[in-house]
Amino acid sequence: MKNKKICPKCGGNEIYFVGGDSGAYGAGNNIPLSSVGRAWNNIPVDRYVCGNCGYSEEWIDHKYLTQLKNSKIAHKR
Ligand SMILES: [Zn+2]
Repeated sequence: MKNKKICPKCGGNEIYFVGGDSGAYGAGNNIPLSSVGRAWNNIPVDRYVCGNCGYSEEWIDHKYLTQLKNSKIAHKR
């Protein structure tokens, strides 16, 4: 969906991008890395939404992956 611009559920090609953000006190679509709620400790989560059926995917930008892996809240399965 992110790369092919096609919805995996309905095959639609009307894909909308909603960028994640990390506002004050954890506002916005993000993963909070600390309970303090400091904006710079949140990892923004981008969304791709199908304009046809409403299905959505969430992605974290590559530049935040190391930070996420090194955090206390991420556990490798
Ligand atoms: Zn769809």
